[in-house]
Amino acid sequence: MKINQRLFDHYGIDTNKDLGIGKICPRPFDTVLIDKQGSCYACECTAWLPQSIGNLQIEPLSDIIGSAMHRHLQASVSDGTYRYCNSGQCAYLSTGELESHHGATHHIRHLRLAIDDSCNLRCPSCRKGLIFHKDGSAYQLGIRLADRINEWLYDHDGPIQVHIGSDGDPFASHVYRHFMDHTPERDNIKYSILTNALMFKEFHTRVPYVIRNLNELGVSIDGASRETYEKLRLGGNWLKVTENLESIAEAKRKHGFKFMLYFVVQKDNHHEMDDMLALGEQYGADRVNFSLIEDWGVLPDFESKLPPLEDPAFKEMLERCTRSELGRTWSRVWDLS
Ligand code: SF4
Ligand code: SF4
Repeated sequence: MKINQRLFDHYGIDTNKDLGIGKICPRPFDTVLIDKQGSCYACECTAWLPQSIGNLQIEPLSDIIGSAMHRHLQASVSDGTYRYCNSGQCAYLSTGELESHHGATHHIRHLRLAIDDSCNLRCPSCRKGLIFHKDGSAYQLGIRLADRINEWLYDHDGPIQVHIGSDGDPFASHVYRHFMDHTPERDNIKYSILTNALMFKEFHTRVPYVIRNLNELGVSIDGASRETYEKLRLGGNWLKVTENLESIAEAKRKHGFKFMLYFVVQKDNHHEMDDMLALGEQYGADRVNFSLIEDWGVLPDFESKLPPLEDPAFKEMLERCTRSELGRTWSRVWDLS
C-alpha cells in the first residue's frame, strides 16, 4: 500500500499536516466515487482527496471497500490530522461546516458515478469541444464499469443513493443509459441525477424505475434568458430547455422528487440571478443553488470570467438571493452586514 505523493503535490496538499479536528468526516466511511478509468475514491470529489482506494477494472467493489488503503484514509480523518485532505478546496473544511460521523457503521450510503463524460453540450467552462462516446474503447470500458457497479448493487442490502452525472449528461450518455436500463429494482436503492435537462422529456419515461426512485433531480442551466443560456451552454436551445423544465415540473408533481436548479455565476450571467430565482419559482424548484465559477484549467483567461464581485449592484443582488427562501449562494446570511 503506497500513497501516490505526486498526486498530492499536484493539488498542493501537505500530507504531513495535522489539522487537529475533533469531528470525523463521514465521507471516507459512507461514500465511494468511481471515475471513468474505474478508479475509486473515498470522498465526493477527486480533487479533495485524490488518493484512489482501488480500481474496478482490476478488483470488485466488494474488495475495494474496506481495503487497506480505504482503511488508511479513514484513519487519517479519525485521528483528526486530515493529512490527505485538500483543506483549501474541500467545501466542508474550507467553510468549517464539517458533519460528524457517528457510530462505527462502515456502510456505503452514497455511490457517485463519474464513469462517462459524454454530453450533448460543449460548455466553454467545462470542455474545449464535444465529448461523446457511443463506441470505441472509452464506451466499452464505461459499459464494463456500469455492469460491475450493477452487480455490486444487486448484492447490496443497506440503504444507498446512487448519484449519476457529475461528469457528463446522464440522459445523453449511452453508458449511463445502459446503467439505468440494467440497474436492479430494489427498495433500498435511490437515485440522484444531475442533468442539463435537454433530454429529460424524451428519455425519462424510458427509465421509469429510476424516476420512481429518484430522490433528487439537479438541473444546471447557467442562464435565465435565451441570449445568455445559448451563449454559455454551447449547443443548447432555450425553447427546448424551457419545454424540458415544464416536463420536470410535471414529473416532480407526480413522483415527488426534490428539484434543484444550479447556476454557476460568472461575468456573462451575473445580472440574471434574480431572474433565475423567478424561473425556479415558475417551474416549482425546491432550491436554486448559485455557485461562483471555479478554475478547472479549461478557460485560458479565467480571471476575466469572474463576475464583478465588488460592484455594489452585484453585491445587492447576491444579498437578495442569499436572503431569499429559494436561493442558496456561496455567501451566508449570517455573514451579511
Ligand atoms: S474532509 Fe473533505 S476532503 Fe476530507 S474526506 Fe471529508 S469531504 Fe473529503
Ligand atoms: S452540460 Fe454540464 S457536463 Fe455538459 S458540457 Fe455543459 S457543463 Fe459540461
